[in-house]
Amino acid sequence: MAFELPELPYAYDALEPIISKKTLEFHHDKHHAAYVNNLNNLIKGTEFENADIIDIITKSEGGIFNNAAQVWNHTFYFDQFGKDSAKEPKGPLADAINASFGSFDEFKEKFSAAAKTLFGSGWAWLVKKNNGSLDIVQTSNAANPLAEGFIPILTCDVWEHAYYLDYQNKRPDYIVNFWDIINWDIVSGRY
Ligand code: MN
Repeated sequence: MAFELPELPYAYDALEPIISKKTLEFHHDKHHAAYVNNLNNLIKGTEFENADIIDIITKSEGGIFNNAAQVWNHTFYFDQFGKDSAKEPKGPLADAINASFGSFDEFKEKFSAAAKTLFGSGWAWLVKKNNGSLDIVQTSNAANPLAEGFIPILTCDVWEHAYYLDYQNKRPDYIVNFWDIINWDIVSGRY
């Protein structure tokens, strides 16, 4: 069965001015949509034609991997935003952040540094390890921590298409503002 582009879980202008309507129109309707279309075309007639997305990400390589991972990464990224929600992690995730990083502020500083210093296109991730502890990892291009056995909790897309219309070359400004649109109810539920 072909994969479908999920709709954004909020209006296109819901994240303004931090992420503009125009950015979401391109990022979701063009970029995310293209990964879905490419994936559907690439898996036709292959062993992955009826596989679920996680199976494809963990077992494929090359173009199929790149497009499958980007489909999953973007759905995960868009789902974590929303302005009317908890402003900080809660419950077990809040405890795990304190245990792994010392405090929420120290976590934000480390995650922001990972997002800022990632060279080229890629993603910064907060991940849960098998023992429940948390770590911050960077991945290049489409790569996803699921393939390394980690459970993603939060991500920041630092491909230029994620921020260039709003921030041009100022990736650090995008990352500073990123924290103000995280829906911590959703993210806390991922832990
Ligand atoms: Mn993107």
